[in-house]
Amino acid sequence: MKPKQSIPKELRYTMRDFNNEFPNDTACLEYIKEQRYPDGMADCAKCGKVTKHHRVGNRTAYACQSCGNHIYPLAGTVFEKSTTSLKTWFYAMYLMGSTRCGISAKQIQRETGVTYKTAYRIFKQIRSLLSEDGMQLEGEAVEMDEMYHGGKRRGAKGRPSHDSHKVPVVGMVERGGRVVARVAKNAKRETLLGLVKQYIMPSSIVFTDDFVSYDGLENLGYTHRRIRHSERVYVSGDVHTNTIEGFWSTVKRGIGGVYHNVSAKYLQTYLDEYCFRYNRRDQGNLLFKTILEQVSRKAS
Ligand SMILES: [Zn+2]
Repeated sequence: MKPKQSIPKELRYTMRDFNNEFPNDTACLEYIKEQRYPDGMADCAKCGKVTKHHRVGNRTAYACQSCGNHIYPLAGTVFEKSTTSLKTWFYAMYLMGSTRCGISAKQIQRETGVTYKTAYRIFKQIRSLLSEDGMQLEGEAVEMDEMYHGGKRRGAKGRPSHDSHKVPVVGMVERGGRVVARVAKNAKRETLLGLVKQYIMPSSIVFTDDFVSYDGLENLGYTHRRIRHSERVYVSGDVHTNTIEGFWSTVKRGIGGVYHNVSAKYLQTYLDEYCFRYNRRDQGNLLFKTILEQVSRKAS
């Protein structure tokens, strides 16, 4: 892994900042409570008043100031049924937000003392909440390309043969903007064009290489520019797919170097993690806060 690029001061959030803000489980619980019930104010289901709710002893419950009815800020979140401490969960998210290539379960096992199985499960659950499926790209210029998981593409022209067990991943990226990466059942024309229709606006210019499955983009109404990778041409004016290939190299470095042997079944959730990070690459370490917000808000 390359050393981290320097992050502008206002986007820094160091380990010290983390430990100051979240010294223990109570601080983490307070944070989640504040997300759902700012200042502890909640609509009481029993007495009907909007009142301040106060923590009940050491429990994860808060009681209505007026009638004593309990609310549970962790209800419906990934934390609710977990026996792992909130601080460990938060720390896992902190690590996830502080890397480009991904964080291995081994690392959090080492640093926090949870078992490998627990560490693995924590990351899996966090990842599952980072999906942005349903997003649509709006960039004027969008690059599209595929990557094959489970091995490298063979040469510029070669795509794996039909009987190959490699899993195709299709990526689409706005130049200077956001990325979408989806595991696809194959790399046939109908599959790729289906993804184009789903994620790319018809007014976009789509840049691809000369793989035959991209034939037909113009019939769908897109402006289509192709770079002749098969003739070993990689850039011609603004015609290239360097942006998406840069994204693939981050993914490959991570999946190959940090997450060894990602199975096809979970590949999409790993891609979701990379997309989530890439799409917020201007947030520096504060990405942690975005992950935290998303994970503590979403029901599991
Ligand atoms: Zn009440």
